[in-house]
Amino acid sequence: MEIIQNILTENDCYKAGRTITPRGVMVHSTGVAQPNASVFLKNWNKSGIEACVHAFVTTGPIYQALPWNWRGWHAGGAANNTHISFEICEPAGHTYNGGTMVGYDVEQNAEYFAAIYKNAVELTAELCKTYGLDPLEDGVVICHCEGCDRGIASNHSDVLQWFPKHDKNMDTFRADVAALMEGRATSYEPEEKTVEEDDEDMIRYKKLSDIPNTWDEAGNPRATIGKLMDAKIINGDGSDPTGNDDIIDLSEDMVRQTIIEYRGGAFDRRLIAAGLEPAVKD
Ligand SMILES: [Zn+2]
Repeated sequence: MEIIQNILTENDCYKAGRTITPRGVMVHSTGVAQPNASVFLKNWNKSGIEACVHAFVTTGPIYQALPWNWRGWHAGGAANNTHISFEICEPAGHTYNGGTMVGYDVEQNAEYFAAIYKNAVELTAELCKTYGLDPLEDGVVICHCEGCDRGIASNHSDVLQWFPKHDKNMDTFRADVAALMEGRATSYEPEEKTVEEDDEDMIRYKKLSDIPNTWDEAGNPRATIGKLMDAKIINGDGSDPTGNDDIIDLSEDMVRQTIIEYRGGAFDRRLIAAGLEPAVKD
């Protein structure tokens, strides 16, 4: 998450110079199909706008438009006195009918949404850390629409006109902010498998006799690995000095890879040297 300072010093809200003790974060979206934050930063940096948020979130950087403890003009209600605010920039291509998006292409915007949702979560987590806020506490992290329901913001639909189209809502948002702050897996970045878990899933063959003798795509893998053991290309641990029943401990992946190499002729020179048939005959 990259935050670029772009304080709107010509905006009347900035000039009013009132500060707050932040008690929450209010999430907005702009309500217009304009992914380019610089349009807002330019148009809002003058007097007579009568609106100002603390930041604009894009799929790239986050642009900070007010000091975080400034009193913003974003909610049209009492939330201005308590909540830090940011606008999430909406992608291009849709229009509005009242508070409802029209012609919004969910599939085409999936990547855009994933990136901007992640940035919004990260910014909120950062602000909650800075101001000692619990994102799961009632009323702390809310969107404009929820603020209206609580009687602390004007009647706007953001962001619940948008997030649910991508199977997100303010509950997933709050949960993701909390998860990020606590170093747990988020809904958009499920925890990566640890190496140990990978190992548990992996099939391993202790001995040659554990390897199947039929695989549709690989003929008789047991015979092939046995042949490579005869040629001393694969060596066990020596516990069966007279045969091939010593411990080899090969994973299924290793066996498959070895067979691909065998079929490509990778061991032919050594097989011939051991008096055995090469894999590639011409
Ligand atoms: Zn709003």
